[in-house]
Amino acid sequence: MIAPVLELRDIRKSYGASKALSGISLTMHEGEFVGLLGPNGAGKSTLFQVVAGLFAPDGGEVRLFGLDHAKDGPRILARLGVVFQARSVDLDISVHANLRFHGRLFGLSGRELACRIDALCEQFNLVELMNRPVRTLSGGQQRRVEIARALINQPDLLIMDEPTAGLDASSRRDLVAHVRALARTEGVAVLWATHLVDEVGDADRIVILDRGQILADDTPSELLRTTGGEDLTDVYEAILSRRASEGDSL
Ligand code: ADP
Ligand code: MG
Repeated sequence: MIAPVLELRDIRKSYGASKALSGISLTMHEGEFVGLLGPNGAGKSTLFQVVAGLFAPDGGEVRLFGLDHAKDGPRILARLGVVFQARSVDLDISVHANLRFHGRLFGLSGRELACRIDALCEQFNLVELMNRPVRTLSGGQQRRVEIARALINQPDLLIMDEPTAGLDASSRRDLVAHVRALARTEGVAVLWATHLVDEVGDADRIVILDRGQILADDTPSELLRTTGGEDLTDVYEAILSRRASEGDSL
């Protein structure tokens, strides 16, 4: 049996006395696009850092492709693409140089690397911009460079933390549609974190995270059906406010 691309079991993480993650369990399979939706401070970035292997959680189990970061870190990173919340592309060098450098980190070279860079630039509409320093690109274009870069190793799982932060509405829509299509056509599993409901309407599953806990994990249509909401914004607000009133009564 093929292991899930991601399996989290009862993940816990505190910063001092403050609990950021209180028992997160989540499974993702090949080619699934999962929207991780939650307000600021919900724990999305902390969860990302755990999945990326930046630190071990205080408790619980993390498996990517059936592997453990502590034992198999390099094998996991070879199959993972990461786009962090803060931009992390080198602004002073060209789009091409950014992609080339990152490809080399994965041991790619020669024709193979050149072909992969060309294909990604085509796919992300970066061909015309390839030789420009990243600094001279718009926010949306820079984000496309980062995503292209995260795909240079042809990952099986792409994790993206608020990838549309700072983009205007139309670049936002384009980016969501683009990555959504990528999951469908290439079978890449995508974990997309956001606080914006309209970005996850087309997801295979929506996981709602608030104050370190998962409040819902279901398809958009099931969430609509079970909460009786008109649209996903209704659903999201109903789920968050139910949680808030339960919290008040504790
Ligand atoms: P999100 O990405 O959903 O906004 P975060 O994971 O960044 O949520 O934060 C979850 C909680 O953990 C918040 O209360 C935040 O203040 C706290 N937190 C995050 N990072 C740190 C840190 N390095 N030190 C202390 N507290 C932190
Ligand atoms: Mg965050």
